[in-house]
Amino acid sequence: MTGARGQYLSALGIRRWRQRAPRADAGQPPATDSSAGAAARPGPAPRPEVPTATHAGVERLGWEELAERVPACTACELHRSRHNTVFGTGDVRADWLFVGEAPGAEEDRTGEPFVGRAGQLLTAMLAALDLERGQVYIANVLKCRPPENRDPMGDEVACCEPYLHRQVTLIEPRMIIALGRFAAQSLLKSSEPISRLRGRVHRYGPYDCPLVVTYHPAYLLRNPAEKRKTWADLCLARENLG
Ligand code: SF4
Repeated sequence: MTGARGQYLSALGIRRWRQRAPRADAGQPPATDSSAGAAARPGPAPRPEVPTATHAGVERLGWEELAERVPACTACELHRSRHNTVFGTGDVRADWLFVGEAPGAEEDRTGEPFVGRAGQLLTAMLAALDLERGQVYIANVLKCRPPENRDPMGDEVACCEPYLHRQVTLIEPRMIIALGRFAAQSLLKSSEPISRLRGRVHRYGPYDCPLVVTYHPAYLLRNPAEKRKTWADLCLARENLG
């Protein structure tokens, strides 16, 4: 394994790999998320009603209006402690949409998603797929940082969800990658643990965009042994581009 791609795969902990043989069910619709099971950890709390006054018309906004609406948003308590909203970045017509949980301290400071060490690892994950950051779109479920990086609350997710939903509708990606347990459970409205959400193709949104779950880069930095599973998830996603 040589060259730049080899280096990126090495960063993912992959020493050797080969393209998977075509699946026996190639050409068939990918499996959807239909299994149920007990949750190892609780998912986001039940969603309250979204305050419609704040989000009136979000579903009709274009990119410019949406990008103006988010920094002015005060729909949930997170607006009080944020320094910057983190709207998202990348190609607005990208085939791939990567969705994380919420901004961290560095993202809150810069207004950019996935900066710092976790961002570097995400860049390596993209490069292993022969993609650059500018070729994909990267966003979070929440646009504002929860204090002390605590888990987002159900009402915060409910308030912020229309923005991400609108972004998905405008981008029309061919694949969504949910990065980490929280993003996966929020997007899929599931309480299943990430171990059960990985390894299959789910569907999201009004046009049933394929969605694959994998680990958050920050988790992979703490648990490098899981990088191999992430590479398998990315390969699964590449095989099932919508
Ligand atoms: S997290 Fe979302 S809903 Fe809450 S204030 Fe920020 S932009 Fe608005």
